[in-house]
Amino acid sequence: MVTESKELALDDREFELFVRAAQNLDCDLRSQETVFVAFVLGRLGLRPGELCHIHSDWINWRRRMIEIPAHDPCDKGKDGGLCGSCKQAVRQKVDYAKMDLAEARMEVLDDAVGDKLPRHVRSQIQGVHFAAVEGDLSEDDVQRQLDVLLESAEAVGNRDAVLDALDNAAHEYMQDEVITFDEAEALEWSPKNPNASRDVPFDFDARAELVVERFFDRFERWPESQTTINRRVDTVLQQVDGWTVDKTTPHGLRATAATHASARGLSPLPLQAMFGWSDISTARNYVAASSRNTQRQLHQIYSQ
Ligand SMILES: [Zn+2]
Repeated sequence: MVTESKELALDDREFELFVRAAQNLDCDLRSQETVFVAFVLGRLGLRPGELCHIHSDWINWRRRMIEIPAHDPCDKGKDGGLCGSCKQAVRQKVDYAKMDLAEARMEVLDDAVGDKLPRHVRSQIQGVHFAAVEGDLSEDDVQRQLDVLLESAEAVGNRDAVLDALDNAAHEYMQDEVITFDEAEALEWSPKNPNASRDVPFDFDARAELVVERFFDRFERWPESQTTINRRVDTVLQQVDGWTVDKTTPHGLRATAATHASARGLSPLPLQAMFGWSDISTARNYVAASSRNTQRQLHQIYSQ
């Protein structure tokens, strides 16, 4: 996902073409919205879902920061309830909670030092080398890990005890993870992860600063849906000679901001703080991929 977005990042020249095309849109309202999309995603690096829910309350004019809250009840839907993208997030959270036994076993194993398992099982697990897992595992992978564990339990004669304990813990885990539709609804809108509630400076780029100021002179909040953000981006892409709608996406614009900031020398920690990634390795990837950053540092070192 990260790599995919990164490949959709626009370079400096392409970003200028994007901004100009946005400025030249016929309709003044649509043009202002689209320029705002360009800078908020492509320079300040907000997520599309954050842009969709941005509100003047989020702007700290004194600190020159966009303060993205941990929770901001969504009333953007037609009925004053959740908007389309929040409803989708609710469905995903409820679905995620419906994990099967194999997945729950894996979660428990992953957290083997936690307190859900009896001590004799924990020590059993710690004796087995477990592949660290990130993201989705196939069922085969889960089964293979489990087989390794049970084989080693069998060797000391407590295979059944380990499996029982593991499954009890897995059922308990599934119980804890259950979230009702109402509970999930009450959480929206919220950012993607705890790190995503953050302060994003907007005064480091004079044009971005002006665009933010002018936008909130006119609007209280982003007045459209998240789907409209996609549509605005597509419209601009169709205006530039030789480009198609595949050139970039709202997420690609966010990657544009990350590429731009890392190329200018922002180091991994502040980069992570700005973009709200849960994992520092995403920031490191951007910095490592920035040859301009390398070039600048070489110039600095060799000019001394
Ligand atoms: Zn919403």
